[in-house]
Amino acid sequence: MTFSDLNLNTPLLNAINDLGFTTPTPIQEQAFNVVASGKDVVGIAQTGTGKTFAYMLPILKNLKYSEQENPRVLVLVPTRELVVQVVDEIEKLSKYINNRVLGVYGGTNINTQKKAIAEGLDILVATPGRLYDLALTRVLQLKSIQKLVIDEVDVMLDLGFRHQLINIFDILPQRRQNIMFSATMTQDVDLLINDFFKSPERVSIAVSGT
Ligand code: ADP
Ligand code: MG
Repeated sequence: MTFSDLNLNTPLLNAINDLGFTTPTPIQEQAFNVVASGKDVVGIAQTGTGKTFAYMLPILKNLKYSEQENPRVLVLVPTRELVVQVVDEIEKLSKYINNRVLGVYGGTNINTQKKAIAEGLDILVATPGRLYDLALTRVLQLKSIQKLVIDEVDVMLDLGFRHQLINIFDILPQRRQNIMFSATMTQDVDLLINDFFKSPERVSIAVSGT
């Protein structure tokens, strides 16, 4: 399978081509249609298997150009390093698309982030704590969020973010797609899914050689 088989539009295909990637990884191939379908989904594949593109390709394919200010896609990740990394990957994919992407995390000036948010954005990548603090300031309006991605759910729960996540679910629109990605399917991940998500589709790539 090639990226063209995923029926991506030309701007996305050109961006991928510039990166030198030739074929989708197994998780990218198998998660694409499920994520694109709009159903809740949980994807499991080891670290380094391309999970960021697995959720971002279908999201970017379907995200129409908009001039509205409020973000429509929210990606939650456990650490500041991951915010930077995921923003970087989204920007690479968006090379030929007019997307406004912003990353926010704690430990840095919140006012600078508020200013950036006020300028309008499409995709927000955030750590849970800072996301919640920003939402309380009312500068950040979450009413247009259509897709919530929780990346590295296993790590997120290991770090004790369950409560933070639940608080965030409460302030997001009820009608939204929930997309979760994880390297491992832990008991805590299973609990979170059972407590908050309506029977998500599961896409799981077995570890090769085991
Ligand atoms: P994971 O989230 O599963 O740990 P990442 O999404 O961070 O993996 O991807 C790992 C690396 O592989 C990144 O540098 C990314 O740019 C690269 N990558 C992603 N998809 C492909 C692909 N289809 N072909 C080659 N490299 C890829
Ligand atoms: Mg990842």
